[in-house]
Amino acid sequence: MSNPQHIHNLAVLTSGGDAPGMNPAVRAVVRTALNHGLDVYAIYEGYKGMVEGGDKIKKMNWDSVGGMLFKGGTIIGSARCAEFRTREGRLQAAHNLIERGIDNLVVIGGDGSLTGANLFRKEWPELLAELVKKRKITKKVAEQHAHFNIVGLVGSIDNDMFGTDMTIGADTALHRITEAVDAITSTAASHQRSFVVEVMGRNCGYLALMSAVATGADWVLIPESPPNVENWEDKMCEVLKAGREAGRRDSIVIVAEGARDRNGKPISADYVKNVLHERLGEDTRVTILGHVQRGGSPSAFDRYMSTLLGHAAVEEILNSEPGGEPQLIGMRDNRVTHSPLMDCVAQTHGIADVIAAKDYEKAMDMRGGSFKEMFRTLRTLVRALPHPPTSGQRRLRLAVVNAGGPAAGMNTATRTAIRIGVDKGHIMFGVKNGFKGFINGDIEEMGWMSVAGWATMGGANLGTSRKIPHGSDLYAIARHIEEHQIEGLLVIGGWAGYQSAYTLRKERWNFPAFNIPIICLPATINNNLPGSEISIGSDTALNNIMVSVDKIKQSAVASQRCFVVEVMGRYCGYLALLSGLATGAERVYMHEEGVTLNDLKTDVENLIEGFEHGKRLGLIIRNEQVNKFYTTNFMCALFDQEGGDLFDVRQAILGHLQQGGDPTPFDRIQATRLAVKCVDYLIEQAETTGDDPGAAFIGLQSGKVKLTDLEDLPRMVVDELQRPKKQWWLNIRPIAKLMAQSGPNVGGA
Ligand code: ADP
Repeated sequence: MSNPQHIHNLAVLTSGGDAPGMNPAVRAVVRTALNHGLDVYAIYEGYKGMVEGGDKIKKMNWDSVGGMLFKGGTIIGSARCAEFRTREGRLQAAHNLIERGIDNLVVIGGDGSLTGANLFRKEWPELLAELVKKRKITKKVAEQHAHFNIVGLVGSIDNDMFGTDMTIGADTALHRITEAVDAITSTAASHQRSFVVEVMGRNCGYLALMSAVATGADWVLIPESPPNVENWEDKMCEVLKAGREAGRRDSIVIVAEGARDRNGKPISADYVKNVLHERLGEDTRVTILGHVQRGGSPSAFDRYMSTLLGHAAVEEILNSEPGGEPQLIGMRDNRVTHSPLMDCVAQTHGIADVIAAKDYEKAMDMRGGSFKEMFRTLRTLVRALPHPPTSGQRRLRLAVVNAGGPAAGMNTATRTAIRIGVDKGHIMFGVKNGFKGFINGDIEEMGWMSVAGWATMGGANLGTSRKIPHGSDLYAIARHIEEHQIEGLLVIGGWAGYQSAYTLRKERWNFPAFNIPIICLPATINNNLPGSEISIGSDTALNNIMVSVDKIKQSAVASQRCFVVEVMGRYCGYLALLSGLATGAERVYMHEEGVTLNDLKTDVENLIEGFEHGKRLGLIIRNEQVNKFYTTNFMCALFDQEGGDLFDVRQAILGHLQQGGDPTPFDRIQATRLAVKCVDYLIEQAETTGDDPGAAFIGLQSGKVKLTDLEDLPRMVVDELQRPKKQWWLNIRPIAKLMAQSGPNVGGA
């Protein structure tokens, strides 16, 4: 079995608890390795398979990882393995690997699995020496494999690991939790019931906190920050009772499984239920979400991130010094990064120790700034009623408008802005129907309860339009600003919103009414705005596209068919590229690259070649504006004609389903985060800058919230193409291309 020509082979395994996204990671590892000409093996059933050997260690080819992108769990299996904890077991594992020339390993698992891998790596020279001594391998073979290299990827739904902002599976778990809590909320509201929902997270409150933000839950209990008062039960009951009195029909409490009180005593979901029942007389039910949270098809983010991480893991192995410090590949600040593996494991254990030692302040510090900030924000948003304005406080009059096409998350952002503003003692207005409504004076004061339930709703309840004001519109808007004495404006929207805000900014010298702070929050499915790497709504659109394409692919299994799927984005290829990556499309057309007759000719030839060699399904994703002459119809007709009897072609224009749907957890969380900052900005500018207030757009840049001066808008965009000059995600293009290369049977897998 040993292969002297290919002495440095690579293996990948998944270990510990399974997590959605492990499959895309394995697929990326295998394809990247093959692309570099390496022999690559998948070890089935984690360390168990490594110890057992035989057919548990399988050589992979391009097609063996086809069709697994959309599957949840891990196809190559995971198992707990007691033998691997023994030296005898590890000796056997080393023998099995070296027989196949494997001395590189990508481990996808939690801290336990990564610790085990590191131990194995350190022991490797001794294990080989022992195998030589026992005459199981030759000295020469041992010398050829002197070093064992490992790279770690974190597969864990809890998001509990240092070294990565997100673990593989955490985003999907949030999807499952928010779906479940949204569903529970509607039944709870029908019967005016209370629900206590337990989510996973023994030492990590990430899932509990973020799902509480995303679902608009009324109370949350997390391990890192137990209630800071002894009689927290009274406090919780008081808030929930006040909520009922203010008109809330449901009460939802989210409890992390590791929740505890200040003294370290566990707080169970049942305990919370009894408290609510006894003290409030509430009809209370408990739902323990359990393994539902682990299940199901990975979200678009988990497919995309895992693909990038799997690719980076192989690159790391190829580029690192043999025997060097092993690395953990993670995603930090929206970029793939590597950090010393065992430092990350140690820090992860450190936080568990800090929690066990009841040093909760340190635990929250260790979780980092945005986690703490989110917890603070949540505590405001869950209030039944706002703090009353303080006496003598200057009460600002701030307006919120939605503008551009509808994008999921607009309501979440609007709710947060209204509540944060009102809680700080200010008077908040909602402008209806975008700038069209502004021109007509369609403006209303918004109270605390006017946005109840908006956190989870898709669409734009305020109404939105693509109208960009000009000429006499500006007089009308100026008049309404003056009439309502508006002192600050938050524009939640896309291209039209940004252009409108810019127009007001530019016309300040003409219209003194526009001399108010203005801030734009990026909300468009197209992700075509400057100053933000991601806009609110684009994650929801991406998931909508992905789910539809998964179904389209399923529909085609029985026939030899090529689908051309047209997605939105105007001139911005973000949705096309990322959905292509998430669904395994073999070809993505986007305006940034264009398409020529020669490209189409090559694509036809590739399709014919593929179908001639047994391919069953073709999948091509096309941005709506890629080329005005080579339309979707044209492309389909061309492929169909050239495909003859070999395959047929169908088009799927996804249309408006991309703009609808409930916002994803990511869109809800980021909408909340950005809206808080926007209101802070308006208040700060209104209170401090007098005659020359700022005007800016906010955004996520390298994972951080940043502001850009609105004046910079024109120089940052290509106006006629309605997209930013710099688009960071174009860097992903080569990886998407690599993954999509067709093996004979790959067929859009
Ligand atoms: P996770 O990787 O999700 O933290 P576990 O802690 O259960 O999950 O670890 C998974 C497997 O990794 C274990 O069943 C065992 O085979 C291996 N493993 C974990 N810790 C060690 C260790 N200290 N030494 C050797 N193997 C280990």
